Amino acid sequence: MKTQDIMQRLSAKHPGEAEYLQAVQEVLESIEEVYNRHPEFEEAKIIERMVEPDRIFTFRVTWIDDRGQVQTNLGYRVQFNSAIGPYKGGLRFHRAVTPSMLKFLGFEQTFKNALTTLPMGGAKGGSDFDPVGKSDNEIMRFCQAFMLELWRCIGPDQDIPAGDVGVGGREIGFLNGMYQKLSREYHTGVLTGKGMTWGGSILRPEATGYGALYFTQHLLHKADKSIEGKRIAVSGFGNVAWGACKKATELGAKVVAISGPDGVCEIKDGITAEMIDYMLVMRSSNRNRVQDMADKFPAKAKFVEGKKAWSIPCDIALPCAFQNELDEDDAKQLVKNGCWCCCEVSNMGCRPEAIHFFQHNHILFAPGKAVNAGGVATSGLEMTQNAQHLNWTAKEVDERLHHIMQSIHEQCVEHGTQPDGSIDYVKGANIAGFMKVATAMLEQGLI
Ligand code: GLU
Repeated sequence: MKTQDIMQRLSAKHPGEAEYLQAVQEVLESIEEVYNRHPEFEEAKIIERMVEPDRIFTFRVTWIDDRGQVQTNLGYRVQFNSAIGPYKGGLRFHRAVTPSMLKFLGFEQTFKNALTTLPMGGAKGGSDFDPVGKSDNEIMRFCQAFMLELWRCIGPDQDIPAGDVGVGGREIGFLNGMYQKLSREYHTGVLTGKGMTWGGSILRPEATGYGALYFTQHLLHKADKSIEGKRIAVSGFGNVAWGACKKATELGAKVVAISGPDGVCEIKDGITAEMIDYMLVMRSSNRNRVQDMADKFPAKAKFVEGKKAWSIPCDIALPCAFQNELDEDDAKQLVKNGCWCCCEVSNMGCRPEAIHFFQHNHILFAPGKAVNAGGVATSGLEMTQNAQHLNWTAKEVDERLHHIMQSIHEQCVEHGTQPDGSIDYVKGANIAGFMKVATAMLEQGLI
C-alpha cells in the first residue's frame, strides 16, 4: 500500500472533500509501514474498504421558524464502520456541515471508538442547521423534524447518536422525546448524553473535558512534568471547553484564555468557578459570543476582538472548538510565547502543518482521537448502564473513565514509541485504532 496512490484515487473519486481527505491522509501516513507488514490486510483490501463509509443517509428537514416562515435544511447520518460494535458517534448542528465534514468525523470516530476499549463502531451525523440566534422553540421544532427522518436509521443495537458541536443536553432531550414518540417503545439506549432523570449517565456532560485532562496528565507524567501551576489556553466555550476548564482548574492549572468566533478573553489570574458556570449560560443563549464573558466579569477577563486563544502566552494549548482551528502560524506563535505542549481536544483541531511544526520542535503533541475519547467512552458507559437498567455513582463512572484514558495513553505509547525513545502520539493512536478495526474486519470476512 502506498499512501500517495490511495490518496490520488480517493481525491479523484471525492473531489473537493477536503476535510475527509485530510483525515484519511493522516491515518494512512501513520499506518503505512505497519500495514505493509501484513500481507493478509492487503489481500482483503482492508484499506480500500475502511476509508469508505458503510452507508450515508441524506434527508431533507423542513420546519417552521418563530415568524411562521418555512425553513429547509439538510440532515445526514454517516454510518462508517461497524466491525467492532454498533455505529456510535455524535450529531453536529452547524451551518458549515457537509458530507465531507461528517465523513471525516465518522472516519476519525471509528478509530477513536476502537481506542476506548469498548465495543463501538464509528458514525457521525448532523445538519447544516445553524443554532446561532435561534429560540428554544425553534431548536425544538428543528430537532423534532430532524428525528422524523433519522429514527428509521438508528436503534440501541444499531446506531446510537449523541451530541457534538451545536448539540448538547437540550437538543438530545428534544431528539429523544420525538424518537420515543415515533417508536412507541421506550428504548432508553438509543441516544447518549441524556438527562439524569431519563437514562443519562452522571459525568457524561463533563466527560470529554475531564478525559482530555486525564490524558494530558498521563502524557505530562511520562515526560516527567506536572500540570500544577501551568498556564493553559483553551479555545471555545462550549461543552468540551467547559469540562476542560473545570478539570484543569481542579488539578491546579490556570486557564488563562477561552475564545469564540468573535475573539479571545484573556484571563490573567486564571478562570474561576463562577466564570466556568457562566460558560453554560453563554452556550444556552445561542449567541455564540465569548465577549459576553468579559462583559459579565470585566475585572477578570479582557476581550480582544478577532484574536485566537493561541495569541495568549501559555504552557499548554488545548484546542476545544472546531477542526483546523490551529494552523502553522498559530503553532509558531504559541511556541514563540513559550508553549511546550498541545493536546488536541477538538476533532482534527490542528492543521497538518501545525502538527509537523510541533513535532519538529519537540513540542509534546497528542491527537484528538486519543485526547477526546473520554466523551464517547462515557457514552459507552451510559449504554452499559441503560442495558443494565441501573445508574452508577459518579465515583464509579469517574474511575472507569480514568482507567479508559490511562489505557488509551498506554496504547499510544505501545504503538508510538520511536527508536530514539520519543513518543509519536499521532502514530501511536492511529496504529492502535487501526490494528483493532482491521483485525475485526479480517476475522469477519468480506461483508
Ligand atoms: N461527539 C463526540 C465525539 O466526537 C461524542 C460522540 C458520542 O458520545 O457518541 O466523540
